[in-house]
Amino acid sequence: MSQRPPVNFCLRCGTRLELRFWFGQERPCCPVCGYIHFDDPKVAAAVFITAESRVLLIQRGVDPERGKWALPAGYVDGDEDPCQTAVREALEETGLQVRVTGLLDVFHGTHRPGASILIVYAAEVIGGELAPADDAEAAAWFGPDALPELAFESTHRVVGDWARSLRGN
Ligand SMILES: [Zn+2]
Repeated sequence: MSQRPPVNFCLRCGTRLELRFWFGQERPCCPVCGYIHFDDPKVAAAVFITAESRVLLIQRGVDPERGKWALPAGYVDGDEDPCQTAVREALEETGLQVRVTGLLDVFHGTHRPGASILIVYAAEVIGGELAPADDAEAAAWFGPDALPELAFESTHRVVGDWARSLRGN
């Protein structure tokens, strides 16, 4: 688990927060407006896109793990369906329109830096042209026997399981 810095001031009115016992544990609370700060999980969604026994990966153009390859992924906006996040990130990072076909896995912990929960969807391409953008340096299809250097434990787990199942071991 990543340690986040404490929140000291009210996000609504700017008053210094005080620790009070609420809902089972001590939480920073605002004595003026009543705001209670919950240390909610940061959620990300990734998309596992396959076609003809190949998987679509993006090469990271930013740190951490710059230069290594990962699933297209990004943070879920506050009111966004994570399924939509997956579709949006696929389009932003690869130029391809995808359709989610199922939920593949949910990771908790340090499988992907910055996110405490990572939801991985399976998807197929329904349109668009392969054109890497946003924080993707490149985007390409890979077969199970010719995988590039992978970033993040979550990518190793998802892509590794897929590659092993195709190779039959
Ligand atoms: Zn306040």
